[in-house]
Amino acid sequence: MNDYDVVIVGGGVAGCSTALALRRRGAASVALLHTPVPESIRTGETLQPQARRWLEALGVGRDVPRVPSLSAQGVCSAWGGDTLAYDDHLFGLHGKGFLLDRAAFDRYLMDQARSAGVEVIDTAFRAQRLEGEGPWRIRTGEGAGIGGRFLVDATGKRATVARGLGIPRIRFDDLQAVYTLWRGQPEAFPRHTLIESVENGWCYAVALPDDRFVVAVFSDKALVRGLALGRLDRFLEFVGRTAHVGPLLRGAPECLGSRIAAADSSVLETAGSERGWLAAGDAASAYDPLSSAGIAKAMEDGVRAADAIFDWLGGASGAIDAYCKRIQVAFEHYLKQRAYYYGLERRWRRSTFWASRQEWIGLHPDCVVCSRRESESRLPDRILSSGELGRIRAVCGHGGLRAHEVVRQYQGQSPRRYPDWRVIQAIGFLVATGHVAAHGPCEHGTFQRHAVPAPVGSPPMR
Ligand SMILES: Cc1cc2nc3c(=O)[nH]c(=O)nc-3n(C[C@H](O)[C@H](O)[C@H](O)COP(=O)(O)OP(=O)(O)OC[C@H]3O[C@@H](n4cnc5c(N)ncnc54)[C@H](O)[C@@H]3O)c2cc1C
Repeated sequence: MNDYDVVIVGGGVAGCSTALALRRRGAASVALLHTPVPESIRTGETLQPQARRWLEALGVGRDVPRVPSLSAQGVCSAWGGDTLAYDDHLFGLHGKGFLLDRAAFDRYLMDQARSAGVEVIDTAFRAQRLEGEGPWRIRTGEGAGIGGRFLVDATGKRATVARGLGIPRIRFDDLQAVYTLWRGQPEAFPRHTLIESVENGWCYAVALPDDRFVVAVFSDKALVRGLALGRLDRFLEFVGRTAHVGPLLRGAPECLGSRIAAADSSVLETAGSERGWLAAGDAASAYDPLSSAGIAKAMEDGVRAADAIFDWLGGASGAIDAYCKRIQVAFEHYLKQRAYYYGLERRWRRSTFWASRQEWIGLHPDCVVCSRRESESRLPDRILSSGELGRIRAVCGHGGLRAHEVVRQYQGQSPRRYPDWRVIQAIGFLVATGHVAAHGPCEHGTFQRHAVPAPVGSPPMR
């Protein structure tokens, strides 16, 4: 069995960035477990201008000359109204961003990691129960295994390592993307990323190198399934009803492929432990693609994870806890931004898609909540993928408790210290999914809805 200082699982942006940054810090031996997947459509193509800072920190320069890309000019959006509004990178602090051939970008980072001395091992990490503490012994195949003092989960939203450790993932919605890739040069294709909100979601179109372009639709999983948006004819019908994105597909361009991808906002209950593991990138916390921040965040997580791991390997304590705290604080800040941007769309007040995202919903403290049976819920129980949601639901019980009592009781029992608003939001989520019923009467109604002010330092969306 080969032993390494650090074993990283997952060869996406987060995994390669962590590996590269560790080698730059001087970590002796780093292994990256990577499953080569057949060339399928890679989702996510926009690299925000702010990402240049992380490219530089990884030592690959401020540009990506060896990756086919176009320069990202900014965003034009019909969001909250029919008229297009422009937000141009030209007037930003960081210059333009990139519209990447994403598969080539991921390969580029992997090559950089290899050249920096990272050992890339072509193998799948098999889902397995892990003891809560290193040094780690990891099975990679029949009878084969490798050892590592520190273990990194960079497996994307699947968070396979964290799952093996029994760490729950908290999901804030059920967003799905139908992501389609096209070849052609539609007349008057905008030079900016085009975003358009619709009654049950939103969509965008963006140009890629080699006369290709992307059109993606985002909605709740149940709706994607209900409208069969995975079928090309239904997808075209849906997009055909939009004012701005639809016309781009009228010239019958060639469809190169499509896929449905999870796009939910979610976070691990904890992103690591001083006992020798952490998660980076989407595995730690995943943001709505509306932010187009995921690639830059995966690089940033990689750089920060490497700093924390390097200190940990040197015997310092507290670095991993500080990393986890930063992931949590950044996610809370992101949730406020998400509520702000979704809150700008006020046209479809009855749409559950918008209602569940656009306001910072606070339950009235006196409303009575009680758990419902699965048969009465709008969504199946398995959506309660997070143990914490299940525990909050259990506290609600079948007899009925006032919302503020649920918060107090849950906080009294839980070893985790969440701010009260997180627990209130979780109850709101359970009410929205139908797992918990909420009854007035109370003078302000069951929910207190408030518009969310723009958080300080809000970046433009996409
Ligand atoms: C539709 C859509 C559009 C998006 N658009 C943008 C955008 O424009 N800009 C942006 O910045 N972000 C965008 N994002 C988000 C962005 O793609 C992700 O945040 C980013 O890919 C996260 O990188 P990662 O390395 O953490 O995870 P991933 O990219 O998911 O990489 C995980 C890697 O781990 C590997 N892996 C998984 N399980 C195992 C295992 N058991 N063993 C070994 N390897 C394993 C996978 O094969 C993969 O290589 C978009 C997301 C979606 C869904």
